[in-house]
Amino acid sequence: MSSVAEARLEIAQASRILAGEAILDAFGHVSRRHPERDGHFLIARARAPALVEPDDVVELDFDGRIVSGPDVPLFLERYLHAEIYRRRPDVEAVVHSHAMTVLPFAATPSVLVRPICHMCGFLHGTPCAFDAADHAGPGSDLLIRNAALGAALAEHLGEAAVVLMRGHGYTAVGASIAMATYRAIYTARNCEVQLAAITLGDPVYLSEAEASAADASAMSQVHRPWELWCMRHASHFGEIQK
Ligand SMILES: [Zn+2]
Repeated sequence: MSSVAEARLEIAQASRILAGEAILDAFGHVSRRHPERDGHFLIARARAPALVEPDDVVELDFDGRIVSGPDVPLFLERYLHAEIYRRRPDVEAVVHSHAMTVLPFAATPSVLVRPICHMCGFLHGTPCAFDAADHAGPGSDLLIRNAALGAALAEHLGEAAVVLMRGHGYTAVGASIAMATYRAIYTARNCEVQLAAITLGDPVYLSEAEASAADASAMSQVHRPWELWCMRHASHFGEIQK
């Protein structure tokens, strides 16, 4: 299988996984930097993630224009993917989600998402939520629907793994599809646990050193949950990559 065909398959697998794990619903999307062409990335046509097939994946440039594939409807928010790839050469994959469990933190600037367990060390350094109103004015629909908003979001993300978006959702990045998928899922899990802990009192979070060590350990084994999630949600695509 070519590297592009593998990337198309991974995007379909990740879309099914994230839908199956209730991180994406009818909305949200997954992309991967193009494995062979600088300045391009791969993403599904505008379609619910639970329905995405490898053949739905199209090639876009960093200006959000389709460069290969049929003329199909595209995700309005493709610019957030493009501008993150443009700004962060270390990022190979991006997941954008509207998962409701993250929204309380996206709506509360005074409460940062912080790593509360060893599976979530990547959350250390997560900035306060990006506010579209700071860039699009008070009457926008909050969507990242142009390159300027995408660039503003990418700048707000900085070197972090996740950026929350007020009144909207969050975006997770990684050095692989498996890593970005893991981070999108465990961001939502962390928010569930963190919210529960806050109701009990004053939580003790992972220190910066603990978060770094825990993240290195988890990422060295990211193939394990990926294999499980593929079996649960994407086994009909055939052989699971290990
Ligand atoms: Zn969105």
